[in-house]
Amino acid sequence: REVDFISFFNDIIDRFDMLEKENIELSRSLPDSVIRVQIDTDKMTQVLDNIISNAMKYSPEGGKITFLAAVKGRKVKISISDQGVGIPKNNVSKIFDRFFRVDKARSRDIGGTGLGLAIAKEIVLAHGGDIWAESEWGQGTTIHFTLPLQKGRGAQL
Ligand code: ATP
Ligand code: MG
Repeated sequence: REVDFISFFNDIIDRFDMLEKENIELSRSLPDSVIRVQIDTDKMTQVLDNIISNAMKYSPEGGKITFLAAVKGRKVKISISDQGVGIPKNNVSKIFDRFFRVDKARSRDIGGTGLGLAIAKEIVLAHGGDIWAESEWGQGTTIHFTLPLQKGRGAQL
C-alpha cells in the first residue's frame, strides 16, 4: 500500500503516547513534508511496535525516546533512540539474531522471546531497506532503518 510514512509513523507514536504509563517522554523530530513509501502497513507496524516497545522496556523511569525521520537520497531513514541500559559493543550486531538476548539474567524479568528484532530485520529487508543498531553500554541505544521512497511520483522534498 502507498502511504505517507510520516502520518503512518505519527499514528503509531500517538498510540504509544496514549498508553504510556511509565513516565517516559516521547520526542518527535519529523519533517512536515509527505514522504511516500510503498509498505505492508501491518508488517511495518510490527517493526515499529517492537522497536518502540524495546526502547520503552529498556528505558529508565523519566527517560526520553526520540523519533527521527529524514529523506536521504532515494530512501527515508528512520531512527529511534532511547537513553536506556544500552547494549555491550560485542553484542550490538547480534541483537538481530533469532533468540538472542543480552544478558539472560537482566532480560529474564523484563520478558520477551528475542524474536522481535529478527522479525523486524526480515520485514525491513523484504521492503528493500536496511536495519542496524548503534549503542553505548549504559548510555542508550539507537535503532536505524531505511525504506526506499515510492518511485515514479516526481520530486519529493
Ligand atoms: P521479543 O521482542 O521477542 O518480545 P526481545 O525484546 O527480548 O523479545 P528483541 O526485540 O529481538 O527481543 O531484542 C533482542 C535483545 O536485544 C533484547 O533481549 C535486548 O537484550 C536487546 N535490546 C533490544 N533493544 C534494546 C534497547 N532499546 N536497549 C537495550 N537493549 C535492547
Ligand atoms: Mg522486542
